Amino acid sequence: MTALTANLIEIFSAIQGEGINVGTRQIFVRFGGCDLRCAYCDSQHTWQKQPTCSIEQTPGERDFSTHDNPIELSQLLTWVDRQNIPHLHDSISITGGEPLLHAPFLVEFLPQVKALTKLPIYLETGGHRPSQLRQILPWLDLVGMDIKLPSVSGENHWGKHQEFLQICQADRVDVFVKIIISQTTSPAELQQAARLVADVDERTVIFLQPMTALAQPHTNPDLTAPTPAQVLAWQALMKEYVSQVRVIPQTHKMLGQL
Ligand code: SF4
Repeated sequence: MTALTANLIEIFSAIQGEGINVGTRQIFVRFGGCDLRCAYCDSQHTWQKQPTCSIEQTPGERDFSTHDNPIELSQLLTWVDRQNIPHLHDSISITGGEPLLHAPFLVEFLPQVKALTKLPIYLETGGHRPSQLRQILPWLDLVGMDIKLPSVSGENHWGKHQEFLQICQADRVDVFVKIIISQTTSPAELQQAARLVADVDERTVIFLQPMTALAQPHTNPDLTAPTPAQVLAWQALMKEYVSQVRVIPQTHKMLGQL
């Protein structure tokens, strides 16, 4: 029988800089490959599967070693377990790229890594692959999903986002929504996003994440961080529909982290 394998980008230990887990320490397992092409993407190196991956040897030391892809499941478990020194990490972040492109691998990997580390599992996703989400839902403790605004991302997945949220709610899996905003953001789309979330569960927390003003050489130069006035107006607009709308920029970039 062929061993189950996955294409990885990297494994490392870091402080989460986005969403509801901001400030907590996580083991990041970043998978290769993404099926979207968001205009603001600062992770274009994850779009294609890479021939090699970078594995941190010591949590937080950035002492990476390089290994050939694809990676066998047993090897990945060993690397994650090595990161899991007592009391350091709050959870494991399954990220990408788009990690749900690896659903068949995750179905096998997640129950084993959970049993091994006893850490909660956090999925970070574009929120547009509901059928793959269904496959791995039993092992997830928290889902952070994007709603991609066409006016900012260039992507359009309203129907899939709605289905995604509905699945999380039906299975009572904690979920929050992240929306990247720039000066080009359409208020009508923000209103549509707020309605979409409220129709499923108005208690769902929405994070408005202003585009990072720091230099991002890979992102579209036409996209710039929203003005303070825009952010204030858009938060007020969305709070007409959902109770919790928080504005938080990428704090890991402020810290100079990966
Ligand atoms: S989903 Fe994430 S990794 Fe994929 S293009 Fe969009 S921002 Fe980049």
